[in-house]
Amino acid sequence: MSLDGRTALVTGGSRGIGRAIVEALAADGAKVAFVYNSNSDAANAVVDSLKEKGFDVMAIQADVRSKEAAEKVVSDVVEAWGSLDILVNNAGIIRDKLLLQMEPQEWQDVIDTNLTSVYNFCQSAMRQMVSQKYGRIINMSSVAADVSNPGQANYAASKGGVEGFTRCIATEVAKRNITANAVAPGFIETDMTVAVVAAAGNEIKKKIPARRLGQPADIANAVLFFAQESSSYVTGQVLKVDGGLTLGGM
Ligand code: NAP
Repeated sequence: MSLDGRTALVTGGSRGIGRAIVEALAADGAKVAFVYNSNSDAANAVVDSLKEKGFDVMAIQADVRSKEAAEKVVSDVVEAWGSLDILVNNAGIIRDKLLLQMEPQEWQDVIDTNLTSVYNFCQSAMRQMVSQKYGRIINMSSVAADVSNPGQANYAASKGGVEGFTRCIATEVAKRNITANAVAPGFIETDMTVAVVAAAGNEIKKKIPARRLGQPADIANAVLFFAQESSSYVTGQVLKVDGGLTLGGM
């Protein structure tokens, strides 16, 4: 297994895409810690199912919006396992509303959860990665950074920010054997999209050249590529994983 001996931290690992990432990293040999916010039943289910398979996994409750919490999570992981090799900033929310109706809190919650969290965790993890001269950072963006939908000004701003941030930090640490990349999912079946799928599932499929919605494992496979030691010459990139949704021409 190629991640044997590696340690990983995934934010928002209790459900959806994050859970699939935790499972993929663990199955590839990494010890995996993940952060969740409030759904401890979901977090415990992930831990139980992976421990049953003999994997080394731990769940940590923390709010990714807090810098202090991020610092504590990173130091707890390093204290437990002696290193932090892979960081996946996956936690995210939507609070869709047309701009004319968007409350300041709906703007701030999305920016803090999706973008400030990435600053929080990258800065803490990067200190450790610089000292160990190795690191793989993967940040979760969205095709919404590029493709405009009404009602998503807060979300699009947060994900556009994640992509610019990722390119910038990639240049800062490339010579230290640390890469930073982003994955931009299209339409993936998770709790986040359940209402839209229920309302317009088949209409959405018609817009996707692959003619299916993505599954969390589709995103985990892309994350796994960036998490490997062998992807060391790939940095500052955004990989769209969207079944062709953003190719146009349909
Ligand atoms: P999801 O099913 O709603 O899961 C969200 C995860 O983030 C949960 O584990 C949740 O923890 C955690 N989380 C949310 N706020 C948090 C906070 N303040 N502190 C700590 N953890 C927090 O979402 P998803 O669909 O898997 O999306 C994962 C990522 O992919 C997000 O960044 C999202 O923007 C991105 N994405 C998703 C899609 C899609 O179609 N689903 C498309 C493009 C991009 P709890 O369980 O405790 O609530």
